[in-house]
Formats: sequence, structure tokens, C-alpha cells
Amino acid sequence: MGVDDKRVLIAGGGPVGLLCAWLLGRRGIPVMLFDENDTPQADPRAATTHPATLEVLADDGLADDMARVGLVAPIFQFWDRPSAELVAEFDHALLRNDTRFPYVVQCEQFKTAKLILERLRGLSHVEILFGHTVTDVGQNDDGVTVSVEDGRGALQHRGAWVIGADGGRSTVRKACGIDFEGFTWPERFIVLTTPYDFGAERGLSYRSYFADIGAWCNCFKVSADGPPGLWRTVYPVDPAESDADIMSDAGVQARMQAFFPAPQPYEIVHRNLYVTHQRVAARFRKGRVLLAGDAAHVNNPIGGMGLNGGIQDAANLSGKLAQVLLEGADDRLLDLYDLQRRTVAVEFVQEQSIANKKRLEAREPEARKRNLDELRAIAADPERARQFLLRTAMIASQRRAEGMRLEQA
Ligand SMILES: Cc1cc2nc3c(=O)[nH]c(=O)nc-3n(C[C@H](O)[C@H](O)[C@H](O)COP(=O)(O)OP(=O)(O)OC[C@H]3O[C@@H](n4cnc5c(N)ncnc54)[C@H](O)[C@@H]3O)c2cc1C
Repeated sequence: MGVDDKRVLIAGGGPVGLLCAWLLGRRGIPVMLFDENDTPQADPRAATTHPATLEVLADDGLADDMARVGLVAPIFQFWDRPSAELVAEFDHALLRNDTRFPYVVQCEQFKTAKLILERLRGLSHVEILFGHTVTDVGQNDDGVTVSVEDGRGALQHRGAWVIGADGGRSTVRKACGIDFEGFTWPERFIVLTTPYDFGAERGLSYRSYFADIGAWCNCFKVSADGPPGLWRTVYPVDPAESDADIMSDAGVQARMQAFFPAPQPYEIVHRNLYVTHQRVAARFRKGRVLLAGDAAHVNNPIGGMGLNGGIQDAANLSGKLAQVLLEGADDRLLDLYDLQRRTVAVEFVQEQSIANKKRLEAREPEARKRNLDELRAIAADPERARQFLLRTAMIASQRRAEGMRLEQA
């Protein structure tokens, strides 16, 4: 086998594509990665990295490096906004016998990407090409062909496999005619970032979820260039509101004040608006084409599961591709990737993220009371709280995936 016969092509240099490049490259597999942006991503999206994800990032020290540049957060809270009551508090210490990482790490995704890029710099057989847009993908029995535009013209590259890690609007997924099944939420989500210290001033933990009547807020801390760090607040936005109103200073202050009344206007350092979907690709493998990360599944950010799922995809897929390429394993192993990761995306991430949203936004007084009473009861019972945490920490879903066998694929 020549080098090109083993080469893996990757569309997308977000955290998932870069992680695939690293996990394959460090095993000696040649990789070519294309990203349409001229530089690595800088927008503030994912931060929360769950215990199950830290486990898969542990062996080369990435989990520790993320903790070093981020924040370690063992506790998260649920609050009722109208009554300002702390309803429930969960401590990951309850998972001390389930994981080496009884906490989440709040590490902004551009920092995770940067840590991976630093590792990739030492690998001459891995090419990371920014300013390269993947426009099409073809395949035959021997390999894949990826069409790429780099601003000067169109080129074609050959490889053994291609990974589509090119985000929710994935060109790779569309080129293969794979459906992206699910729906789009009518409301968009706005992220407002402030240096106001919700920990010192309001007693919030680094991850705090607020329920309100037909609304909600997630408030969490990131280290930014810290210390002291920044606090991100995430809210739903009424579809009837105009972008100009939403993003105006008055609109932003009104939204902050409605949730967290304060005598002073808030200093806002970022304001970002996102369309949010719940979708899973009909398949994660089509021949020599494999999907991972947001190209394969997207969900609302309540509970912080999207990128976590993507990182878990990258680890699962890279391990199996390495077995196929380096050890001659049957490529049906990649059907097991599809089965494991697709099952988890549907049964856990979609279900949990939708339930998280419904729990926070319930309008009916009885439903609100039921939801909050249930959270109180779970938090008060250590074994129920542990079971709850096993799901939120994505350990239950990893265990489910690990229990699946090739015969089921
Ligand atoms: C407000 C918000 C908060 C979030 N918080 C969390 C959280 O706390 N925890 C969590 O786990 N997840 C969270 N997420 C989700 C998380 O941001 C995504 O799941 C994550 O970005 C997915 O990474 P990815 O690498 O798969 O895709 P992306 O980050 O979208 O990267 C895709 C890359 O592909 C490139 N690309 C696209 N098309 C092409 C093409 N044709 N050719 C070449 N390159 C291409 C793009 O330039 C991009 O760099 C959040 C999302 C939002 C919006």
C-alpha cells in the first residue's frame, strides 16, 4: 500500500475535523484537511466539556491542557427565575466511582482547536489547509475524490476515505444525498457575554440553568483571557423580533435586565445570534464517506452536548479507521461506528437536549411545578442524582455505545 492509499481526507477544520486529523496523524496515517475559512474559528460557541468526553481526550494530555486553559466546574445548578429560588444543585463528585473526571471543563472551542493545532504542527504527514473549500465528493471501490477550490482554482485530491466534519450545512453530507432528519426551532438563541461576576454578585455556579414561563436562560462562566473570565448568558429570541431590535443596545440590556435586574447597564463584550436545529443524518457512513460532528447531528445547546458528541464521534471513528488502515480490519467496523454513534445521537443527545429545553420553558403552572419538584427530588436522593448525572455527563450514552456489537450493525 502506498501512502496515498492510506490517506484520509477531511472536510472541515472545526474542533471535530482537527481532532480526527490529530488522532489519525499521531498513529502515522497521512491526512489532508481542508477548511473554507482563512484562519481557525474564533467564535464563542461550545465550552462545556463533559466527563465522558474528557475520558476520550485523556491519554495524550488534551483533557488536562483544556483544564489548564479553561475552568474546572464540578457543580451545576437549576434556578427558578420568577421566584429567584435555587431549585437543585448537582455535584459531579457523585460520579467519583464512575469517572476519573468528576467535573466538567469549561474550555471555549477555539481554545480546544488551538491545543489540537499545536499538536499537529509536529506531524509532517498531516496537511492542514485553510482557505480551501470542499465543493464535491465522489467515490469508487478504490478510494474517494474530493473537489476543492482554493481561491486560485479547482483541484481534485484522492484518498482512501473522507470524513465530512464540515458542520451543520455539510457539503459532504449533501453531496452524498444523505438526509438530515429532524426540525428547526422557530426561535433563535442569543448569546450575550459580560464580565459582570454572576458568581460573586448572585451566587451562581459556573453552570446555571434558569427556568421561566415560556423562557429560559443558561448562564455559565468561561475563562476567556482570564482571570477573572467572562460570563455567557444564552436566551431564546421570539421569532417575531427583528434582528435590529434583538441586537441593539436597548434590546440587549432589556433582555439581561429581565432575567438579572441590576441598577447599572451590563457591559456586553459579545453578542451572537444562532439558528438552532434538532437533526441527525440518516446515516453516518456511505461507502468510503464518513460523517462526524455537526455534519452528522445538531441539537440545541442546553446541556452543552453538541461538540461533546462530535468529539466522541472523532475518537470512535479515528480508532476504527486506524484499525482498518493499519491492521487490515474489515471495514464493516465502520458500520459499527455508524450504529454506535447514530444510536447515541438519537436516543440520548436529541432526547436529552429537547427535554432540557422543555423543562426550562414550561408555561403551565402545573407542568412547571412538576418539573421543578422532580429536580428537587432527584437532587435530594444521591442515587437518583448519580443516575441523572450519568446521563448529563454523557457517561450513560458512552456505555450504551460501547455495549453495541458488530453483529447488530
Ligand atoms: C451558542 C452555542 C453554544 C454551544 N455550546 C456548546 C457546549 O457548551 N458544549 C457542546 O458540546 N457543544 C456546544 N455547542 C455546539 C458546538 O458549537 C458544535 O457542536 C461544534 O461547533 C461542532 O464542531 P464541528 O467541528 O463538528 O463543526 P463546526 O465547528 O461547525 O466546524 C465546521 C468547519 O467546517 C468548515 N467548512 C464548512 N463547510 C466547508 C466546506 N465546504 N469546505 C471546507 N470547510 C468547510 C467551517 O469553516 C468550519 O470551520 C454550542 C453551539 C452554540 C451555537
